[in-house]
Amino acid sequence: MTFSIERVRADFPLLTREVNGQPLAYLDSAASAQKPNAVIDAEAEFYRHGYAAVHRGIHTLSAEATTRMEQVRQQAAHFLNARSAEELVFVRGTTEGINLVANSWGDSHVAQGDNIVISQMEHHANIVPWQMLCARVGAELRVLPLNADGTLQLDAIPGLFDERTKLLAVTQVSNVLGTENPVQALTELAHQHGAKVLIDGAQAVMHHVVDVQSLDCDFYVFSAHKLYGPTGIGVLYAKEEILQDMPPWEGGGSMIATVSLTEGTTWAKAPWRFEAGTPNTGGIIALGAALEYVSGLGLDNIADYEHTLMHYALAELATVPDITLYGPQNRLGVIAFNLGKHHAYDVGSFLDNYGIAVRTGHHCAMPLMAFYNVPAMCRASLAMYNTVEEVDRLVAGLKRIHRLLG
Ligand code: PMP
Repeated sequence: MTFSIERVRADFPLLTREVNGQPLAYLDSAASAQKPNAVIDAEAEFYRHGYAAVHRGIHTLSAEATTRMEQVRQQAAHFLNARSAEELVFVRGTTEGINLVANSWGDSHVAQGDNIVISQMEHHANIVPWQMLCARVGAELRVLPLNADGTLQLDAIPGLFDERTKLLAVTQVSNVLGTENPVQALTELAHQHGAKVLIDGAQAVMHHVVDVQSLDCDFYVFSAHKLYGPTGIGVLYAKEEILQDMPPWEGGGSMIATVSLTEGTTWAKAPWRFEAGTPNTGGIIALGAALEYVSGLGLDNIADYEHTLMHYALAELATVPDITLYGPQNRLGVIAFNLGKHHAYDVGSFLDNYGIAVRTGHHCAMPLMAFYNVPAMCRASLAMYNTVEEVDRLVAGLKRIHRLLG
């Protein structure tokens, strides 16, 4: 199928909005992406005509909703090329998925004197749960440093991994720099040291095909809302033998086999053991619609379109006087920058006046801000529905701000 930017944009009603009297240029999809009609309609249709509690009813609606939910698990398994749908846990998002692994797998596999390796470009969601785990069990958190261009210092690896390394937790794509890390090679290396690997896929799944079997990672996590799906739902993949062996981390309904006040409780098998309580079924159905939408366009087509747009944007932004661009030339999805000595909030507010939405702040990556010695950055995201004209407006806006503020 050919990729038509006009057709894609027509699927996203919010993109026709005006902001501050200007047509909206939405360049904040790495924070959260807009939703196509297919996703909005699927969730609304479910609540209008298909809604019931899953798992527990014998009645038709409940059985139908349960089937639809489990079909989305199959769809997500296909999307990531997992061996089985039973390797996928529905979670609230990337943050919850990582916390699940840190609490369940972490507490049962990481002990005093062990260590966990992360990188300096991680989102707080892939830092803080490991800091908390290390504090609980007395383990050490080690950090793979960066080169100035925002790539990982791979030659630092031999000094970081040893026989007490239990886990490498690393992002596939940086939410600030756009760097794509060599996660397949890193996984192989970590496995050679006997460590497991968790990949944060929050900024990767919308940009290209992900195949967890060829990556051979042990855990992979992503959020639906950055993949044009709804908020409040995400997916944790874990290799079946690892997941089946993990203890539950939240107790409640739906995650048990039997409960007795005298004999105690036995657990359901994975993945349901990790899904206590009534799930976000509407979100799951809408996630299914998002997966279908993106797969229908073809991730290879999306990748080609975004690659050309990114190439153009990097070249054009480099013509803005006094701009500092962070990150490598070869990148996905985001361009973080600062304009002269101006605070990112000031630049972002001016851009907002021109109808251009960018993210400003520390991007939940304070250690990365510390590395570049800045309090904040602006970040423009390029998603599959963004255009050359929007990039031109961003560049013209920045040049204007530079003229105004000096
Ligand atoms: N990791 C990365 C790389 C991210 O960009 C984000 C979202 N900004 C997260 C984790 C956290 O995702 P969520 O807030 O959806 O849980």
